[in-house]
Formats: sequence, structure tokens, C-alpha cells
Amino acid sequence: MASSRVDLDGKPIAAMTICMIGAGGFIGSHLCEKLLFETPHIVLAVDVYNDKIAHLLESSENEKQPWDGRIQFHRLNIKNDSRLEGLIKMSDLVINLAAICTPADYNTRPLDTIYSNFIDALPVVKYCTENKKRLIHFSTCEVYGKTIGSFLPKDHPLRQDPAFFVLKEDESPCIFGSIDKQRWSYACAKQLIERLVYAEGAENGLEFSIVRPYNWIGPRMDFIPGIDGEGVPRVLACFSDNLLRGEPLKLVDGGESQRTFIYIKDAIEAVLLMIENPKRANGHIFNVGNPNNEVTVRQLAEMMAKIYGKVSGEKMLDVPTIDVTAQEFYGEGYDDSDKRIPDMTIINKQLGWNPKTSLWDLLESTLTYQHKTYSQAMKTVMAKPTAN
Ligand code: NAD
Ligand code: UDP
Repeated sequence: MASSRVDLDGKPIAAMTICMIGAGGFIGSHLCEKLLFETPHIVLAVDVYNDKIAHLLESSENEKQPWDGRIQFHRLNIKNDSRLEGLIKMSDLVINLAAICTPADYNTRPLDTIYSNFIDALPVVKYCTENKKRLIHFSTCEVYGKTIGSFLPKDHPLRQDPAFFVLKEDESPCIFGSIDKQRWSYACAKQLIERLVYAEGAENGLEFSIVRPYNWIGPRMDFIPGIDGEGVPRVLACFSDNLLRGEPLKLVDGGESQRTFIYIKDAIEAVLLMIENPKRANGHIFNVGNPNNEVTVRQLAEMMAKIYGKVSGEKMLDVPTIDVTAQEFYGEGYDDSDKRIPDMTIINKQLGWNPKTSLWDLLESTLTYQHKTYSQAMKTVMAKPTAN
């Protein structure tokens, strides 16, 4: 496995040590699996939690795993831990995934959101520049904010013109709402850290790539409230929770916003190409999404209800969705991105990457996982008498 692997230019890929910050999260857990199962690289996994990578950390005398010795977990909070610089110094590459990144937090915990996405990332960037380490920093497609077309009247013909909605890394502006719409605290903090990383590249020679994920979804995303977490997760977990409870899926402001969803496993392929092709990836910002998988949130809800019925064998509700206002669901200061279609020119040209999995297929495998993982626990939770 190790010696025969070559990069996109046919050159052998040398094994590297990767410091992955936020490795215990959704994306981190899939990236750890990919690196351990398919490459010879070593992962220094940094996070405050490790439940989602526990299966990679466990090993016993009887059952040696092929990746034993290639992953080390370091439980630390990057806000305040002096061990971080030492780990970065030991690495060839740093990948920073750590962030508060659930929309329900942006308007209700804006300070934590800004600190997490900007202030806490500063030492990581600084240590990479000072120690001449390559950095792959995770940003978000949300830095684009709203599309230009969203400001046109609803029936205006230019709304159909891709120039008014396709999001291009090197051309599209970043359009956020007013300051009292605290939803944009996350996008704004991510934009500023992107600008800082870019400036470190331009002025101090930092080797970097910036990733802008477009709604990556799949197994292990977020949590199911009341079972393995509390609060309001992202839409996949919200709708999974509704389906597991047998209750209607809640559509915020009519579910008219549009999203493109990509299967986590397709997206991880793109990240691996960035990791192993530094000459092609350095200095670039990459949209990573699937422009073919666009739906409104309402369509997503209807599709998930249908697929869940199929994989669980449970009867679909007569009324599978209900409308809720953003004020009721998220509280004061919520706002939304209207539409997110990634332009794929740069990632195609630099890395020759394209997503493969259709929305139907990715939802089928993800909802099969959700049903297997949570349906029993949900039955137990729902059978408990509630305090009144
Ligand atoms: P996640 O919440 O599952 O993972 C983030 C991980 O970072 C968590 O395990 C968390 O414990 C860890 N973390 C946070 N603060 C930390 C700290 N101070 N010290 C140590 N660890 C800390 O989120 P994810 O979906 O895996 O997203 C990873 C990155 O990708 C984030 O930067 C996010 O903004 C970005 N992103 C993801 C998506 C997506 O579709 N999943 C979309 C846009 C952007
Ligand atoms: N949403 C919804 N019902 C829910 C959860 C989310 O209608 O139970 C909507 C939300 O308002 C947004 C979209 O689904 O328009 C995607 O939300 P998500 O939390 O996944 O994050 P985003 O794509 O906005 O970053």
C-alpha cells in the first residue's frame, strides 16, 4: 500500500505526519478513517472529544489493526493549551477543522462563535507560519452569504442566470446581512480567518489551502438531541430526529432555501487529493460541493421522509412536514443563505476531482445508518415517562 502510491503527477507519495485539529468531529472522523485505511500517513488527532474516532483508537492484544501506531489522540482545547505548538512542530501538515459550526449557535452564542472561528484559530496559523508548516484550513461556503440574485424581485428573469447565483472562489463577493442579524457572526469570522491565512501566504510565505465545504452530510454528523447530545443540530440531524420520533419535519420559513448536499465520502476524496498534492493545492481556495444535488429544504424533507419509510419499514406520516418561523425555531437574529451552487472550475483544474454520489443514494445510506444507530435508543427514550 505505502510504497506504490503516487500523486497526480506520478511522483511517489512520502508518508507524512499530520496534526489534525478537530479530528474528533464529523469530518475529522471520516478523514481519520481515510488516512488510516488507505494511506501510510500518521495522524496526531487533537480534539476535546474522541467518541467518533473511538473505533480507531481501540486496539487489543488479540485484535491488532493494520493502522495500530499510526494514530495518537491528544485531548486538548486549542484555546489554552501550550502543547499545541509542540504537536504542530512534530508535523509535516496541519489540518484545522476545529470550530463551532451549527447555525443554532450563531445567533444565540455569537461571542463563542466568533472566538471559536477566528480568535482560537489564530495561534494555529501563527505556529504554522513561524514553523514553516503547511496548513489546510477549513472555512465554509457560507462566506459567500447571500447570492446577488436574491436581491432581485422574485420573478426577475436574471434570477435564472448562473452569473447571479453560482459561487466562484476568485470572483463572487461575500454578502452578509446587517449586524443585528447575528447569524452572520460565523460567516464573518470565517471570512476574516481566510483573509488572515491568505495574507500570511502573501506576506510571509505560508503554504496553505482553504476548504469551503458545501453541506457535507453522512453518518456521524452532529447528534440526536436527547440521545447523544443536546441543542439544535444541522438539518440532517434535525430531520433524522423528527423521523426517529415519528413526528413531522419542521420547515423553517417554509423550507424555501436551497442547498446542494454532498456525501461525506466524496468530499473526503477531495481533501485527500489536497493533502497528497501540495504543489497543486497550495495557495488555493477550494469549493467542495456537489452542484448536481440541489434541492429546497422542503424537497429534502420530503425525500428523507420517503427514504426513511423505505429503510425503516415504518409507515410515513400523512402530513410529513410542518412550517415554523425562523423566530420560533432559532430565535432572534437568524437569517439564511438563499442558494449555494459551487463553481467547480478550480478544483477540477487543480485536482481533477468530481463528486459521484446522488442525493437519493447518499440519503439512503445515511438514513440506514441513523436507523441502525438510534432507533432502539429512541424507543427507550420515548417510553420513559416525562416529568410534567
Ligand atoms: P464538528 O462540530 O463535527 O467538528 C468540529 C470538531 O472540532 C469537534 O469535534 C469539536 O470538539 C472540535 N473543537 C472545537 N473547538 C475546539 C477547541 N477549542 N479545541 C479542540 N477541539 C475543538 O464539525 P464538522 O462538520 O466536522 O466541521 C469541521 C469544519 O468544517 C469546521 O471548521 C466547519 O466550520 C467546517 N464546515 C463544515 C461543513 C459541513 O458540511 N460539515 C460545512 C461548512 C463548514
Ligand atoms: N432547517 C429547517 N429545519 C430544521 C433545520 C434546518 O428547515 O429542522 C433549514 C435551515 O433554516 C436552513 C437549512 O435547513 O435553511 C440548512 O440548515 P443547516 O442547519 O444544515 O445549515 P446551513 O446549511 O444553513 O449552514
